[in-house]
Amino acid sequence: MNVLVINAGSSSLKYQLLNTETREVFTKGNCERIGIDGSFIGYTVRGGEKQKLEVALPDHKTAIKHVFQLLEEAGFDQSKIEGIGHRVVQGGWYFPESKVVTDETLGWVREVAPLAPLHNYAEADVIEICRDMFPSIGNVIVADTSFHYNIPEKAHRYALPRDVVDKLHIRKYGAHGTSHRYIWKTTKELLGDDVHKLVSCHLGSGASLSAIQDGHDMDTTMGLTPLDGLIMGTRCGTIDPATVCYLVREGGYTIDEVDTMMNKQSGILAISGVSSDTRDVEERAQKGDAHCQMALDMFFYRTSQLIAEMAQSMHGFDTMAFSAGIGENSDTFRSAICKELAWFGVKIDEEKNSVRSDDPRVISTEDSKIKVLVVPTNEELMIALDVQELLSK
Ligand code: ADP
Repeated sequence: MNVLVINAGSSSLKYQLLNTETREVFTKGNCERIGIDGSFIGYTVRGGEKQKLEVALPDHKTAIKHVFQLLEEAGFDQSKIEGIGHRVVQGGWYFPESKVVTDETLGWVREVAPLAPLHNYAEADVIEICRDMFPSIGNVIVADTSFHYNIPEKAHRYALPRDVVDKLHIRKYGAHGTSHRYIWKTTKELLGDDVHKLVSCHLGSGASLSAIQDGHDMDTTMGLTPLDGLIMGTRCGTIDPATVCYLVREGGYTIDEVDTMMNKQSGILAISGVSSDTRDVEERAQKGDAHCQMALDMFFYRTSQLIAEMAQSMHGFDTMAFSAGIGENSDTFRSAICKELAWFGVKIDEEKNSVRSDDPRVISTEDSKIKVLVVPTNEELMIALDVQELLSK
């Protein structure tokens, strides 16, 4: 099935057209600066060179029109697109699994939007536009939170007053669920019966871990929002919640300023004082920059600590898998995190670790108690597979 996968943000819209059987990606691109001056679409066709179309994109509707025009130029008119999959950041309590778009399911995306206002409203608008513009193509909603919905209550409930929690739908929702689901699926395909308890490590500029037991999610590090858990590129991750009150009361910051600080001005960027990109930070640390070294040390410490936490929620683990920007590309990060976990019996083969490849692979030694893998994530394929499954029903 040829599926168009759409990942809409408030000012961007990423797309990818792929085939679920051959897994071939025909074309992909990103509409950037929607609603802002200087908008353009960067795209590639059949793995060719990156092209750029400078075009006014006053709104998402115009962006989608241009995307369909580019698809047509690449040889894919509407009749060759058999389904559209929409990534939705927050599925709330309505999406324990992916669902076909109807008036009702589209309404749910908007109903839960206060939990992720920067994303869900734009996503809902884009879903509606696609449905109205191309009524013959089926649309499917794939929420990033779905995979975490059924984690045990003792893991997702917050110890706040019950009436408050119930009224405001406060719980751990997690994120990166589609990626963690793909990482489990790929690890299972590779290891078969040798994997039961996996700690999935999605380490990019946003980062989270998941404890996955025989395909079921048992816990995850992100919380009500994607701010919780690991130290990230610009996000602080877990801190004492009273810090928020202290910043407001004693620091004189407004709530919006604290929100911006914790989401956009913290993490690796804040500790290093240099960059949110771990490549820059690593380079500076090698030249003796103490703040950059501290950013790395804190990242390794916190990540290994939370891997242990995930392992505890499964009463042990047999496998861990690294994925996303850092997890897939940085052998030094993988090596440092695994060293922290050596006392668990985690041992990697540095030669295997240093190999660069787009294929999923095992990098632990034969005698390691825990199998360690690198699994390049593919959220688009996972979304497309959901579209195929739901639309062929
Ligand atoms: P997101 O999707 O959350 O924006 P990605 O998964 O694309 O993030 O990861 C981007 C991050 O991955 C970069 O900010 C950088 O820190 C890290 N990264 C990418 N390549 C490398 C590399 N070769 N070595 C170290 N870190 C890398």
